[in-house]
Amino acid sequence: MTAPQLRIAQVIPDTEAEGPGKRFALWVQGCSIRCPGCCNPEMFVADRGGRVVSPADLAAEILAVPGIEGISVLGGEPFEQPGPLAEVCRIVRAAGRSIMIYTGYTLDELKEKNSPDVEALLATADLLVDGRYDQTKPEKSGRRWIGSSNQVLHFFSDRYAKDDPRFATSNTVEFRFVNGQLTINGWPQAADAFRRRDPNK
Ligand code: SF4
Repeated sequence: MTAPQLRIAQVIPDTEAEGPGKRFALWVQGCSIRCPGCCNPEMFVADRGGRVVSPADLAAEILAVPGIEGISVLGGEPFEQPGPLAEVCRIVRAAGRSIMIYTGYTLDELKEKNSPDVEALLATADLLVDGRYDQTKPEKSGRRWIGSSNQVLHFFSDRYAKDDPRFATSNTVEFRFVNGQLTINGWPQAADAFRRRDPNK
């Protein structure tokens, strides 16, 4: 039997704008939540776009990047592909890298799913940022890497301390121009401001 595959939208192998330290950022494809103002609407559709990978191949791709502290999983919605993603995160964490996951679901909603795959993915996380992105409540209290004030940063392991100064410094935005394509990542409100707008909207 073939192991479940994962559809991913995009990766940045080495970023400092998506969590503590240098991290491999992984955006998964597909999100049914569809928060108004989401900065990644091109990642909503679940069955096309991006690329399909096996968990083992993706984990090997991540672990081949030198000097990263961990991975940050963004979306799209990570918990809409929990089985194969849990396998990626399990392998990466076993190799000593930390795991940070962003989800539009609240932690309570995830627990109510009573899904072994969801539980397996949660078990890999050192850090979880949960809750819908609410564009009417932009984060302004100095919490780095958090999009809106309703979202909660959970510390699931002792790998990170709540008073780590890296969680309270200014947000950053990164620009990359690779193979003729500009990518912008980091602080959602700022990154979104640079994206191309449809002049008819
Ligand atoms: S949960 Fe995340 S990816 Fe999904 S719509 Fe909301 S902000 Fe966008």
